[in-house]
Amino acid sequence: MQDKQDVIIVGGGPVGLVLALALQQQGVPFTVLEARAKGASHQDTRALALSYGSRLILEKLGVWDDLEAKATAINTIHISQRGGLGRTRLNATEHDLPALGYVLPYGAITKALDDAVDSANIVYETQATEIKPGAPVAQVVLERQGELTTLASPLLVIADGGRSLSGIKGIERETKEYGHDALVSKVRAELPHGNIAYERFTSQGPMALLPNGARDFSLVWTGEKARIDALLALDDAMFLKQLHEAFGDRVGKFLSVEKRLSFPLRLSTLKPATASHLVVIGNAAQTMHPVAGQGFNVGMRDAWTLADLIVSASPGKLGSAEMLNRYSQQRKRDTRGGILFTDFLVNVFSNDVIGMSALRGAGLGILELLKPAKSFLVGKMSFGK
Ligand SMILES: Cc1cc2nc3c(=O)[nH]c(=O)nc-3n(C[C@H](O)[C@H](O)[C@H](O)COP(=O)(O)OP(=O)(O)OC[C@H]3O[C@@H](n4cnc5c(N)ncnc54)[C@H](O)[C@@H]3O)c2cc1C
Repeated sequence: MQDKQDVIIVGGGPVGLVLALALQQQGVPFTVLEARAKGASHQDTRALALSYGSRLILEKLGVWDDLEAKATAINTIHISQRGGLGRTRLNATEHDLPALGYVLPYGAITKALDDAVDSANIVYETQATEIKPGAPVAQVVLERQGELTTLASPLLVIADGGRSLSGIKGIERETKEYGHDALVSKVRAELPHGNIAYERFTSQGPMALLPNGARDFSLVWTGEKARIDALLALDDAMFLKQLHEAFGDRVGKFLSVEKRLSFPLRLSTLKPATASHLVVIGNAAQTMHPVAGQGFNVGMRDAWTLADLIVSASPGKLGSAEMLNRYSQQRKRDTRGGILFTDFLVNVFSNDVIGMSALRGAGLGILELLKPAKSFLVGKMSFGK
């Protein structure tokens, strides 16, 4: 199944697959262990917001041509708050970009990447059950068709999305529960989207409408769990009415809604890791609030940076402490920036503190007039800089 020098990647989600494809292009041997069956993730219609910087990575990997026809460009981001004045618009043309970002179904991304990675290097329906950091190799115990096997590698990469593996020696997680859930669905409105993404802050939590396809929006509506549960329980007509009340009139009335799902929201990060020959990337390393669509894009940059360091590692240095330190140094600023940025937006924009609404309105109004501040925002969201 693998040579003992293979890089082993646990998790064939978008981040694990980006790393795999980048290694494949450079002729580095690797094995991906993926719990799901081949093609199972291709049906996942959850919308991911890709930054322009992520598009550039997918272009370099040669999969963007395949994805472009399925992507909906975001040319403008419109930011407002409910019940308050002030709004800001960010436009791609003002920042000399063809688009500020793109909306793509999760399944389209994993399919394009799955198709491009040599399937001989992906072992599907294989669950990693235990991870043992160590030198000169880290080990992974995996279960496949009821049988347990142990594989070893000088570099074991955890890209499992952060939901399945815990208690790894030398890897400590810090988690903050927002106490909020996100309701996600697809909705259609009276007015066409015009490639505008709307971020709207309400005292109960932020909501976003992202253009998805010719006529629809992907909705991400966050709020306290009890409120989201109540919204899930409404019939379609009542749900659409409440959405209109919360969102306002910018796209007219809402006409239809697809199946509604919800996810709990948390901020999860890793303390500086001390595990040997092991690195954690993507959502497994940092899980963020979806307010500014940062999570997946930060994960893409994790994979891209790591691939670069693997390719340039001197013989015998793959997975060394020196290499892993370099990785964490290179990723620290971007990851921390993404976390602080999303956490700031949630904390500042989602409350009813007296006077805050006026301050936020003034802030949005001033931002609208300040080109350097807008450029900073666009740079942060597009490239993590
Ligand atoms: C409601 C919501 C909305 C979001 N919206 C956005 C958005 O608009 N834009 C954005 O950029 N991000 C968004 N995100 C975040 C985004 O979904 C993640 O950043 C992205 O999926 C991370 O990719 P990943 O490959 O790290 O992990 P995942 O997508 O979780 O993939 C992990 C893979 O590992 C496999 N796996 C798990 N455990 C094991 C195991 N033990 N052994 C083998 N395989 C295993 C899984 O089957 C899966 O294929 C959102 C998240 C939520 C919750």
